Amino acid sequence: MKNKCVDCGNCCRETEMILSARDVNRIKNSDPKNLRTNDFVIKTTDGLLQLKNADGFCVFFDVTSKLCQVYRVRPQGCRFYPLIYDSDKEICVLDQECPRPEMFYPNKQSHMNTCKKIVRFLEKQVLFTKL
Ligand code: SF4
Ligand code: SF4
Repeated sequence: MKNKCVDCGNCCRETEMILSARDVNRIKNSDPKNLRTNDFVIKTTDGLLQLKNADGFCVFFDVTSKLCQVYRVRPQGCRFYPLIYDSDKEICVLDQECPRPEMFYPNKQSHMNTCKKIVRFLEKQVLFTKL
C-alpha cells in the first residue's frame, strides 16, 4: 500500500507479491535489523520468492493502523501496484482489487511507462532470484 492510501489495505490482504533478492536484502537491512528471510519470505511452487502472509494479511501490514510497517523499504512490486503483470496475457493490467487505481495511474502514458519498468524488473531481478 502507498502512504496516500487511507483506510484501505486491500492490496496487503492475502498478498501474492513476488520479491526480488534485492527486495529481500533491502528489507533485511532496514529496521528491525534482526529480521530473518524466513520471517517474511516464502518460496512459490515455481521457485519464486513471495511475501509471507499472517492472519490473512502481509506480515508487514499493521491491521490496526492499516499501514505498511516497511513502507520506506517496501518491495518494488508494492511500488508498482496497482499496475501488475498478467503473465497469461503478457500485458500489464490495473488490479481490480484496488478501488482507486487512477490515483496512481491517471493516464495511458503513466501506465505504459511503469509497464516497461515492471517488465525490466521481472526480467532482470526476479526470474533468476534464488533464496
Ligand atoms: S510490504 Fe507493505 S505495501 Fe507491500 S503488501 Fe506488505 S504491507 Fe502491503
Ligand atoms: S488497494 Fe489501492 S487504494 Fe487500497 S491500499 Fe492498495 S494501492 Fe492503496
